[in-house]
Amino acid sequence: MDILSGRMLTADGFVDGYVILDDGRVTEIGEGRSPESPTAEGLIVPGIVDAHTHVADAGLRLTKRYSLEELVAPPNGLKHRYLSSTSHEKLLADMRGYSNELVQSGASRFLDFRENGFDGCRMLRQASDRAIILGRPVSDEFDAEEIDRILDVADGIGISSITDMDRGYIAAVADRVHRRGKLLALHVSERIREDIGFVLSLEPSFVVHMAQATDGDMRACAEADVPVAVCATSNLYFGIVPPIARMLRAGMSVGIGTDNAMLCRPDILAEAEAFSKVLAAQGGTVDQSIACAFKGGWKILYQESNMKVQTGMEADLVVIPRPENDPFSGPHIGIRRFGPQGAKKDAVQEHPRADRW
Ligand SMILES: [Zn+2]
Repeated sequence: MDILSGRMLTADGFVDGYVILDDGRVTEIGEGRSPESPTAEGLIVPGIVDAHTHVADAGLRLTKRYSLEELVAPPNGLKHRYLSSTSHEKLLADMRGYSNELVQSGASRFLDFRENGFDGCRMLRQASDRAIILGRPVSDEFDAEEIDRILDVADGIGISSITDMDRGYIAAVADRVHRRGKLLALHVSERIREDIGFVLSLEPSFVVHMAQATDGDMRACAEADVPVAVCATSNLYFGIVPPIARMLRAGMSVGIGTDNAMLCRPDILAEAEAFSKVLAAQGGTVDQSIACAFKGGWKILYQESNMKVQTGMEADLVVIPRPENDPFSGPHIGIRRFGPQGAKKDAVQEHPRADRW
């Protein structure tokens, strides 16, 4: 049995409270002081949804600076050459190691844009039971059978960008995804501004980046109730500052994402720290960062942002020994994870943690 005590995040903000866990489940929740001495004390928050990842490139080492196009543009960016020339076994081991560390750092689920078509999706399904997989077709032209095959194993489709693909192709994919009731997401306006009218006509579940978007583009997303995943560490690597305060002012719902595994460590609180620093520099508040980090991802995943810790549910909580007015500043020491353990340990190869750049 574990007793977590401290400031518990609820729909109304932080309140004094405790949670009792037994055998991986929540057995009691209460306000006020815990009845017995706690196993862990601090801010008690739900496991975080990492709203945008590419975990397959965790093993790619960058020895110099690259531009966005050199590194990630399909089909010939360094990352794509790496993915097609690396063995299945190594990619699988890297995905598994990175995913497990991400979950242990405080992530509950991660929404991954998985390259390499059906095979890529199947590999990630094997690597982690915490992945929400958004696959990507590899055919040159729309192939309904390929999309169906991908959607049999994946949770949806993640489109590289409307600049990289034929519009008719993307629209046909979107139609197929909606018919199957699955998720559709796209990178939008990362390097250059893209046509938000066309993007929204695809009825995406969410978009990623929106770094070059105008206020009008952001308002259009807010009105269509399309949330955005912001990837601060990744954007900053490419010299882009994500306009988070403007997104919030426009009424957008914002979640955080770690993006390419080659660019950041599997540490969701480090990403939340990077995000909150950018937002603070733009005049945003700690409460806004807390809402984006702890609720924004759930909104993206389930169109539902209230944390509901209920008795009987599977334990999926993080205890952060930090004050509530400064929850993200590192170093992230003493974080306790109560919940999903990720893939089985015996299948995990050691994963290098060194900084990538
Ligand atoms: Zn991405």
